[in-house]
Amino acid sequence: MAPQPDTEAVSARKVAVVGGGLAGLTLALRLRRGGHDVTLLEAAPQLGGLASAWRLGPVVWDRHYHVTLLSDSFTRGILRDLDLESEMNWVETKTGFYDGRRLVSLSNALDYLRLPALRLLEKLRLAATILYASRIQNWQSLETIPVETWLTRLSGAGTFRKLWQPLLRAKLGDGYHETSAAFIWATIQRLYAARRTGLKKEMFGYVPGGYARILERFGERLRAEGVHLALGARVKSIRALADATGESRLEVSHEGGGVEVFDRVVLTTTPRVAAAVCEGLTPDERTRLEGVAYQGILCASLLLKRPLADYYLSYLTDPELPFTAVVEMSAFVDRAQFGGHSLVYLPKYTTPDDPLFGESDETVRAQFEAALCRIYPHFDPADVLAFRVSRVREVFPLPVIGYSQRLPAMTTSIPGLHVVSSAHIVNGTLNVNDTVALAERAARSLLASDLREAQS
Ligand SMILES: Cc1cc2nc3c(=O)[nH]c(=O)nc-3n(C[C@H](O)[C@H](O)[C@H](O)COP(=O)(O)OP(=O)(O)OC[C@H]3O[C@@H](n4cnc5c(N)ncnc54)[C@H](O)[C@@H]3O)c2cc1C
Repeated sequence: MAPQPDTEAVSARKVAVVGGGLAGLTLALRLRRGGHDVTLLEAAPQLGGLASAWRLGPVVWDRHYHVTLLSDSFTRGILRDLDLESEMNWVETKTGFYDGRRLVSLSNALDYLRLPALRLLEKLRLAATILYASRIQNWQSLETIPVETWLTRLSGAGTFRKLWQPLLRAKLGDGYHETSAAFIWATIQRLYAARRTGLKKEMFGYVPGGYARILERFGERLRAEGVHLALGARVKSIRALADATGESRLEVSHEGGGVEVFDRVVLTTTPRVAAAVCEGLTPDERTRLEGVAYQGILCASLLLKRPLADYYLSYLTDPELPFTAVVEMSAFVDRAQFGGHSLVYLPKYTTPDDPLFGESDETVRAQFEAALCRIYPHFDPADVLAFRVSRVREVFPLPVIGYSQRLPAMTTSIPGLHVVSSAHIVNGTLNVNDTVALAERAARSLLASDLREAQS
């Protein structure tokens, strides 16, 4: 039976959660169970945001590739709540490495020792860097050091040029020059956390049916517990209402539903959207929200007749390639989920103003297929059954020097108005686990402040 709201603990308030991604969904669930009357306003016609699913030819699967790590306790907690965790498949995956000439395996220690791109001393320094980073606890001190300086000092100039620099560029573009060492620390911590769970192997998990199934169940659960879900409801403005009784209220205007008044609003959009829709913020709040620079993505999904290789993820260090990694989902997820076909993602992380966002699918397809022919000599463009491109200009914030000091607060100066965005994940990389953890923390803090108010 679905848990009933704990209405005795707090007096029910009318709350709007803006954004139906994993952060908004988690917040809506927890605030509802905390006793509030919750409405979730999502701009898109479906739930899920970056984790949403779409149709690719005959297949419905995630718009962007997603895996869950064994150590993702918050993601697994939500899946347990949705009665889906027990259905997860856990699979050992392999990793590839393409240096511009050949694609080799980089799946275990032996592969690593054989890696042609680095000399033995460089490999030893690289291994020592990763081990050292995995043991660091105080990430705050790393926020003051440029990632380039830190990695060159630890791994040497050769390893930085041949390995770290192309990998940083692949995710951050030229933004890596402004990025702090905390970024690489967070990345290494996440990968190490998976191994700390006991198994030394790289095990990734998925729910059969992918995020389409998770999101469908999430929506059903929210509705069953009394959350009002408004899809196609892009919020245009939020403003405080002067109330003669002294009670603060927030007026929310959104597409498709006109105007509604709430006691509290929690935005889970990017900070730039929050700055654009919230009226009456202080100049400092506005500057901080608008000052968070995001990195975007253009991500192609391909449904293929045949597999490319058996690596889930292949790192690419060749700057001439138009995409920055190859993610072969069907090397990890059972191909029966894709009608026996192979599902491949080709992501290109880039800045929001990259002209590539304006290119047609046909242009992107021609460039991407030509590059696949270079990496995989057996690849035949005639094997592509379906091709679709996802474009998102703001995916994750660039973890620049001193990032945590520049952040906007989650509670704004406008009574009842909160911003809980991916920008507030300060000591992690963007992933569902950290997103859910952030939302759980924010929900706890909001419910605790309700309790204090109720008791005072
Ligand atoms: C390419 C890629 C690969 C990834 N791989 C993994 C992975 O393997 N494992 C993993 O754990 N995580 C992965 N992630 C990260 C994961 O998708 C995110 O952590 C998570 O989806 C973020 O959720 P969110 O709610 O914070 O943001 P979002 O999903 O961006 O949700 C924000 C929502 O707000 C809505 N919105 C915006 N403006 C308005 C408005 N004005 N009014 C109403 N609604 C609005 C948007 O439509 C959106 O639905 C990946 C992400 C990407 C892009």
